[in-house]
Amino acid sequence: MDATKRNKRARKSDKSAKARPAARGRARKRRLPRSRLSPEEIETLFERLAAERPAPKSELEYHNPFTLLVAVVLSAQATDAGVNKATRALFAVADTPQKMVALGEERLREMIKTIGLYRNKAKNIIALSEKLIADHDGEVPRDRAALEALPGVGRKTANVVLNVAFGEPTIAVDTHIFRVANRTGLAPGKDPREVEAILERVVPERFRLHCHHWLILHGRYVCVARKPRCGACVIADICRWDGKASS
Ligand code: SF4
Repeated sequence: MDATKRNKRARKSDKSAKARPAARGRARKRRLPRSRLSPEEIETLFERLAAERPAPKSELEYHNPFTLLVAVVLSAQATDAGVNKATRALFAVADTPQKMVALGEERLREMIKTIGLYRNKAKNIIALSEKLIADHDGEVPRDRAALEALPGVGRKTANVVLNVAFGEPTIAVDTHIFRVANRTGLAPGKDPREVEAILERVVPERFRLHCHHWLILHGRYVCVARKPRCGACVIADICRWDGKASS
C-alpha cells in the first residue's frame, strides 16, 4: 500500500472513531414512547374523567402541608384507609415537625404500628421533621429538590406534596396511574418515570392540575388491577386495552 492510500485510510478510521462515541450516545438515549391516543382522544378522555369527578381530592386525611407529607410517606405500600385510621390519633397530638420530634420515635412507632414498614417509616418521619426544623424553619418547602432531600421522600412523594399542598401541576405516578396509562395507551411507559414524562408531554395544560387524581381514582375504582370494570368505564371506547372486550 502506498503512503497516500495509507494516509487516507488512517484519516477515515480517525473520523469513524470520533463519530462512534456520539453514535453510541444517541443509541443509549432511548426515545420516549408515544401515546397511542390521538390529541383529540386525550382531550375527550380527560373531559369525561373531569365530568365524573369535577373536584377530585386526595383520599388521605391531612391538616396542613406537614401532615400531608407525613401521610404520603406512610402511604407507601399501604392503603389510604389504613393510613387515615392511624393518622387521626397521630395528627391530633403531632401536626407540626416540632410536635413530632417531641413525640419521639418510640411513641410514633406505637401509633403507626398497623401500617406496613412502620419501623422504617417512624425513623424517617422523625428524621425529616428534624431536617425541616433545621433547614426550613419547620415549614415544608415548595421545592422538588428540597423535598427529595428529606429522609424517606422520593420523586412520587414530592410530586404529591407539590400538587396537593401547593397546587403545582405535577403528576405522581403510582401503581394505579401506571396501570391505567399503560392499559389505555395514554402513556405506555416501561417504568413510572417514563409514564410521568409521557403524561407531561401529552396531557393538555387545562387538565394538568387534576390529571393525577383523575387517573388514580379511575384506577382505584374502575380500572382495577384484577378485573377492570370495563362495562362501567366512561372511556371504554377510547381505551386500547386488548383484554377489555372479554371483561
Ligand atoms: S375500558 Fe377497561 S381497561 Fe380500559 S380504561 Fe376502562 S376499565 Fe380500564
